[in-house]
Amino acid sequence: MSRPQMLVVAAALGLAFSQTVLAAPAALAGNPLATASTLPFNYPAFDKIKDEHFAPAFVEGMRIQLKEIEAIANSKAAPSFDNTIVAMEKSGALLTRVQTTFANLQGANTNDKLDAIDSEMSPKLAAHGDAIYLNPKLFARVKSLYDQRDKLKLDAESKHLLERYHTDFVRAGAKLSAADKEKLKALNGAIATLQTSFTQNVLKETNASALIVDSRAELAGMSEAAIDAAAAAAKAKGLDGKFSVAVVNTSGQPPLAELTNRAVREKLMAISLARGSHGGEFDSRELVLKIAKARAEKAALLGYANFAAYSLEDQTAHDTAAVNKLLGELAKPAVNNAKKEAADLQAVVDAGKGGFQVDASDWAFYTDKVRAQRFAFDENQLKPYFELDSVLTNGVFYAANKLYGLSFKERKDLPVYNPDVRVFDVFDADGKQLAIFLADMYARSNKQGGAWMNEYISQASLLGTHSVVANHLNIPKPPAGEPTLLTYDEVKTAFHEFGHALHGMFSNVKYPRFSGTNVPRDFVEYPSQVNEMWAVWPEVLANYARHYKTGAPMPKELLDKVIASKKFNQGFLTTEYLAASLLDQRWHQLTPAQIPTDVLAFEAASLKDMGVDFAPVPPRYRTTYFSHSFSGGYSAGYYAYLWSEKLDADTVEWFKENGGLQRKNGDWFRAKLLSRGGTDDAMNLFRNFRGRDPVIEPLLERRGLTGK
Ligand SMILES: [Zn+2]
Repeated sequence: MSRPQMLVVAAALGLAFSQTVLAAPAALAGNPLATASTLPFNYPAFDKIKDEHFAPAFVEGMRIQLKEIEAIANSKAAPSFDNTIVAMEKSGALLTRVQTTFANLQGANTNDKLDAIDSEMSPKLAAHGDAIYLNPKLFARVKSLYDQRDKLKLDAESKHLLERYHTDFVRAGAKLSAADKEKLKALNGAIATLQTSFTQNVLKETNASALIVDSRAELAGMSEAAIDAAAAAAKAKGLDGKFSVAVVNTSGQPPLAELTNRAVREKLMAISLARGSHGGEFDSRELVLKIAKARAEKAALLGYANFAAYSLEDQTAHDTAAVNKLLGELAKPAVNNAKKEAADLQAVVDAGKGGFQVDASDWAFYTDKVRAQRFAFDENQLKPYFELDSVLTNGVFYAANKLYGLSFKERKDLPVYNPDVRVFDVFDADGKQLAIFLADMYARSNKQGGAWMNEYISQASLLGTHSVVANHLNIPKPPAGEPTLLTYDEVKTAFHEFGHALHGMFSNVKYPRFSGTNVPRDFVEYPSQVNEMWAVWPEVLANYARHYKTGAPMPKELLDKVIASKKFNQGFLTTEYLAASLLDQRWHQLTPAQIPTDVLAFEAASLKDMGVDFAPVPPRYRTTYFSHSFSGGYSAGYYAYLWSEKLDADTVEWFKENGGLQRKNGDWFRAKLLSRGGTDDAMNLFRNFRGRDPVIEPLLERRGLTGK
């Protein structure tokens, strides 16, 4: 995913830092966040930034930006594009710097202090955003410019920026009455606080939800190293002699593929599925209801039928009907495929005289068995060929070199917030430095689950800035001295996140509001998904997939099996994703009066109603640990991956039609799409690249949903 900022004010405004505020505010004497970093590309001085620097810098950053905004709003000069829109783009330098650094660190390397600052600042930042967007004098200036936009002789990007600002203000409530603006402010503050609580709850609940067992025997099937790690984890919790297996953020849990003891699998699955809804300190049910209600109320206040309608209006999908149609059409064929796959699994169980019906806890285990039978390999055969450094430098970077002429040089002189983080200078084909790239690949208990990309500095020629981007994965760290061997999914994720990184690094725009990945959410996953194609492109794969001990290339038969097996289990994957996407829509297509009182009953009824209530395939996230949906970033927007995938699959066809891994193809994609950020309507960018509207057939083909 591309991680939306936890705290979204500056990101929503697109207010990147400006070079114009050079003097450190007196209130921040000695605070390294007070001025732009003097390191290359304004790379953050992680070695100097301490937790206690954030809160005062937030407060000062908001104060200064508000002064800047008031000066714009109260100006005696007639509104002009420069003195209003450009001035807003340049405002908030300090706040943007604090906020991006904080949000990134809080996602990747948090602690109780940062969590407390997040809780304290979230409602303040929501109020700060409201103070800008709901300032009537400021909106009057924006509106007067907007009304005469065709006469201002603006270039295309500037005109688009003006339109974008007008839309942002209207959607933020600028046209509401004074009384309704006050109601909206209260709701925004409440939503910010609730979302922060939900995010922190989910991480704490996940950390607290480990599977604890008494004997090594119960973990049979897991590797000796993993069992040793479980023993160490139990010891660290004061459970000497026991074993503790951590859970990850999705419903599915990696050890389910390995554990041979069915009762233990069932226990692990039950722990995972119960997260946030079994009582106790981190139960999220009340929070879910409050968030859904507050969002529904906000949408109603702004004149929308529900929160999804409000959210989707600003996306390429545009409305709930379009999203419901796409998801609804795919649900039935996806579940049918999953049922066929379940029958295959059941056949293996029955052949072994198992005497039970396959359920969710059995799925991964027997899928691996079917895969082993049908394709004569299991996932573990691949891992020795997927060593992390080779995947990154000989795979991800190699593909970027072949497609775009990029080259990479690791540097060790810049400070990092964790010793595992690697830093690379990125050079363009002409030898000029383009960006700095951080690779933070390992899992930590203080890191959000999943994988994401974010930016510390965004490119904008208005501000003279270049990209500093980071990729975050959650690869389990091996014991010292052992190689880091990836699963096939982790390899794909590495390519995926680098696709986001390219979108950020290639940004060639004037205004920060449009930099890199500042595009609609249902468009942002598109370039990243396209980049996954190179993970299995023969020339790329041959270059990186080499045995970590012998250097031997991955045998061609193994590779062919990997590719052949890619369509296998698509029924499961599509169904679990659709179930979560549909839940996300259901929760956000309610009016305030329709908000239910029982979270789990509503969830069950929704899944049934939508025909995705197939118990062996639970939603990828259940409601009470569905951070995409309830933490803010992808609320009413989890469908975005599939929407983007339509564009992705069509683009993969384009690359194949045009000769694949070649500079001319990469350069075209970069020129027409990756470099353009949000400077134009997203679908216009696609059409400029592809020469026509997207078609859905490649997506259906890929996911095995053509009914063939
Ligand atoms: Zn992504």
